[in-house]
Amino acid sequence: MQFVDVILPIPIPQLFTYSLPNDLYTQIQIGARVIVPFGKRKVLTAVIAKIHQNPPQHYTAKPILEVLDIIPSVTQIQVTLMQWMADYYMCCVGEVLNVALPSGLKISSLSKIQIRPDVMWSVIKLTEQEQKLIQSLKKNEDMSYDEASEALGVENVYHIIKSLIAKEVILVFEEIREKYQPKIQKRIRLTSEYITETNLKALTKKLEKYPKQQDIYLAYLKQVPVFRDWTLNEEGCNKEILTKDITLSNSALQTLLKNAVFEEFEVIISRFEEYDANKEIRPPVLSLAQKKASEEILDFFATKDTVLLHGVTGSGKTEIYIDLIQKVLVSGAQVLFLLPEIALTTQIVLRLRKIFGNQMGVYHSKFSDNERVEIWQGVRQGKINFVVGVRSSIFLPFDNLGLIIVDEEHETSYKQHDPAPRYHARDMALVIGKLQNCKILLASATPSVETFYQAQQGKYGWVSLKERYGEALMPEISLVDLTQERKQKHLKGHFSQTLLDAMQTALQKNEQIILFQNRRGYSPYMACKDCNYIPKCSNCAVSLTYHMGEYELRCHYCGHIEPPPKKCPACQSVKIETVGLGTEKLEDDIKLFFPQARTQRMDLDTTRTKNAYQQIIQSFENHEVDILIGTQMISKGLDFDKVSLVGIFDADRLLHFPDFRAHERAYQMLTQVSGRAGRKKDSKGKVLIQTNDVEQSLLHKVVLNDYEAMYAIEIEERAYFYYPPFTRLIKITTKHINRGLSLESANFLAQKLMSKLGKARVLGPEAPLIHKIRNKFLFNILIKIERENIDLKTVKKFIYEQVEDILTEKAYKQVQISVDVDPL
Ligand code: ADP
Ligand code: ZN
Ligand code: ZN
Repeated sequence: MQFVDVILPIPIPQLFTYSLPNDLYTQIQIGARVIVPFGKRKVLTAVIAKIHQNPPQHYTAKPILEVLDIIPSVTQIQVTLMQWMADYYMCCVGEVLNVALPSGLKISSLSKIQIRPDVMWSVIKLTEQEQKLIQSLKKNEDMSYDEASEALGVENVYHIIKSLIAKEVILVFEEIREKYQPKIQKRIRLTSEYITETNLKALTKKLEKYPKQQDIYLAYLKQVPVFRDWTLNEEGCNKEILTKDITLSNSALQTLLKNAVFEEFEVIISRFEEYDANKEIRPPVLSLAQKKASEEILDFFATKDTVLLHGVTGSGKTEIYIDLIQKVLVSGAQVLFLLPEIALTTQIVLRLRKIFGNQMGVYHSKFSDNERVEIWQGVRQGKINFVVGVRSSIFLPFDNLGLIIVDEEHETSYKQHDPAPRYHARDMALVIGKLQNCKILLASATPSVETFYQAQQGKYGWVSLKERYGEALMPEISLVDLTQERKQKHLKGHFSQTLLDAMQTALQKNEQIILFQNRRGYSPYMACKDCNYIPKCSNCAVSLTYHMGEYELRCHYCGHIEPPPKKCPACQSVKIETVGLGTEKLEDDIKLFFPQARTQRMDLDTTRTKNAYQQIIQSFENHEVDILIGTQMISKGLDFDKVSLVGIFDADRLLHFPDFRAHERAYQMLTQVSGRAGRKKDSKGKVLIQTNDVEQSLLHKVVLNDYEAMYAIEIEERAYFYYPPFTRLIKITTKHINRGLSLESANFLAQKLMSKLGKARVLGPEAPLIHKIRNKFLFNILIKIERENIDLKTVKKFIYEQVEDILTEKAYKQVQISVDVDPL
């Protein structure tokens, strides 16, 4: 008897063993998807992790129902990687599988209805609508809920179906089907009979008598010149070309099909546009500095697996990537190019598409399931050798990677926060590098402290580019003293006179402006001028954000919406007004100061749809917009020619965020945003940072563009206070609607952890900054583990067991506990 251990896409800690029916025996391979029964009446798509002969000890193995893949969809390397991830990030391998596999590759079951065979029609009374549904069911044999609602022309059919089930007229069953649906194209070709010269000539003659059919025949020959080359008929032509042409008669086409002159057939086509591959291929002409950097990278790769490319904003890192990617692809290996966010892919993808054409795939969450499956399969089948994608593309089934590039490696969006696995795509790239023996290029103008530390230690190669490409100079960054301007009464709302003047000048010269407002979340909110009351979310410990456009208050954690109060609920004062400054408010103010200027916002609210980024970026590129106002989304990698001024609001808030990485983050954010200025011109771009504290030393590091000085201070503090890179952190969070219970369980867990790890290594529990989300109270425990002389695996195993233990205690069963390894 043969058995398989499978990974189920659900959060259970172990693999499950199933038996293998004899007829499936020869087909099975590791990584293949199978359908297995699980629980009552449930089936799941699982992935084979192991094939063996040992029956399970504690249960009888059920047989596998079906094998979905002859060629496994998941590679053996991926199975290993998923298990590694589960171990490292302290989660279930099923949770990893669940995010790794595009949902199009998971089976769905669809509820269908059918008439019962034994209905006593004479004794049953049906309503009009029920009768109507039964009529269509008699015609169709079975129907899905959606089909039923379509047949009845009503949206909600559940109550009708429920009633019919109660009357014992219909039954419901589950149909299992693959979610992924290939895109089908209908095509037309001449039947084989006419693929000889004599017969076709005879047909030509015959059709002279039927002008409408002749038109179609001629239209076909125009598309498919078979007289020139008979083999062309094999592929025929897209049926749509003939049916969409309004000068052609559809019924004539039907006649030709009926008379077997033409035949119809179907082909599977790609969902992605065809791009003329390699037409514009040109090796990028690298500047001397770029060339030197590229050579240094390759030299380092001879002895090191990982290189940090530390190049200032606008130094032309992308051209260096292109050079390297071409070299790797020519050698026959695959390349993965990771970007932190979709916002960024738009511009870069356009640039890369011209060079790499169809061998390049793009992978991110704004694609549909079906599209993602096609990229997955393209990589698996070797049609796509190069993928540009966001963090989830580390899960693609590469088996021969030569290079992974992690652009803007310092970006926090590489880390997945929820749900598990809470992985970091950059760190996973390093692991994949080891598994596939491939090289890793980490790149940034502002590397993370952790990465720079590794480069300083000589673990990574370090290649530095200090100048911008071409004529472009680094922007001139200055601080604007808000305190001073406030004293002199020069402030207009949130705008300093200095900034307004600079904006005026730029607009006069027909140059573009970017205004940066850190995160949309904190503002604007409402507050009562008399009693200071602030409307808060009833479910979460955050103030509600005021949205002017929709005239509503919204919670950015749970989505709760309510109308803004007209009077203060606490003191009944009518002086309840908006405070703070969001992107929306900024845009509104600008309209007052510069009524002629064309403005555009780019934030979470304006970029919900698939093409929104692209549209905003394009209209800014085409200079249909003068002022772009945005959150951190605009700070990353965007490259515009005509931006001469960048204005930054509320830099102080970035600095005072209670987090040990606050200064690092602030430096990165401010430098990256500044980097959008003056990227093409020989005249310097200008950056104005508005602050209440012009003495702040970190801001001066930004002004001087002195990354290394910032790093020197940061690394000293990290060493002193035992933070990464000198330690590893694990954060455990308890969550429960009862605050007392949440705290109690956290205390209990912390005690258990301390008993073995010691007090110095276990901090907390402590309520986080936002201590209540969706009505649940949170408490954090932070564990610090030194990097040397300790067995991380053993420590993690111990922590995992303590968490499991707590969850078996009756009192704490309902508490949710999540574990975040290397939290950000
Ligand atoms: P970075 O990513 O380092 O901030 P980019 O790669 O976006 O910089 O390059 C900045 C600008 O300089 C881009 O507009 C790019 O097209 C241009 N550029 C860089 N290198 C070259 C090159 N070798 N040839 C032509 N244009 C270049
Ligand atoms: Zn009040
Ligand atoms: Zn809320």
